[in-house]
Amino acid sequence: MSDQYLKQIRELYGDELYLELGLNINDSSTISHSKINYESDLDAFNNQINACQKCSLGSSRKNFVFGTGDPNASLFLIGEAPDEQEDLKGKPFVGSAGILLDKILLAINRSREKDVYISNLIKCRPPKNREPLPIEVKECEPYLLHQINLIKPKLIVALGRVAGMTLLNVDNSLKSMRGIIHNYNGTQLIVTYHPATLLKNSNSKPEAWKDFKWIRSIID
Ligand code: URA
Repeated sequence: MSDQYLKQIRELYGDELYLELGLNINDSSTISHSKINYESDLDAFNNQINACQKCSLGSSRKNFVFGTGDPNASLFLIGEAPDEQEDLKGKPFVGSAGILLDKILLAINRSREKDVYISNLIKCRPPKNREPLPIEVKECEPYLLHQINLIKPKLIVALGRVAGMTLLNVDNSLKSMRGIIHNYNGTQLIVTYHPATLLKNSNSKPEAWKDFKWIRSIID
């Protein structure tokens, strides 16, 4: 059904028939936050949502990238979106940026299995790795929020400017977001470099290392 057709039905027959047909009164056919009771176990939650088709990325993805790590983690890392490798394997940060991230975690005596959980702003790969669109973030955010509620981390770390800006709902530089403890729905949040940026520009590695030492001091 096209938007135009739905509009016509509504104009001709009013809201009552529109609702009888099971259509959303808000006319926002792309936004569908129905009141679902999400599962309280991470694996069950993944099974509940991994066939998601709430946005158009549902039809282009190879795999839904839910997130991985320690369900009792004190550190929750949030990247931008799955890339090609992540889409193929269904896991976050498994490409070259992920290899660097694993090394950084090891240096603070952590790993994906130990005290760390990793996910992204959105669960599906955008075409050609473009930045996530606001509508994609909006549809996916309830999933991320529920993961955070289940894990209850001590600290969230946004990896990169896009993750930081999106979670904090600001349009700022990475520089201005770094070095501050922000608040994300009641949980402390820090913004640092995306590991892919560190691969491209190793001059930023000392600064990133400072951030991770600070991160370690908060979660230790
Ligand atoms: N970049 C991200 O932001 N997330 C991934 O999972 C992989 C690369």
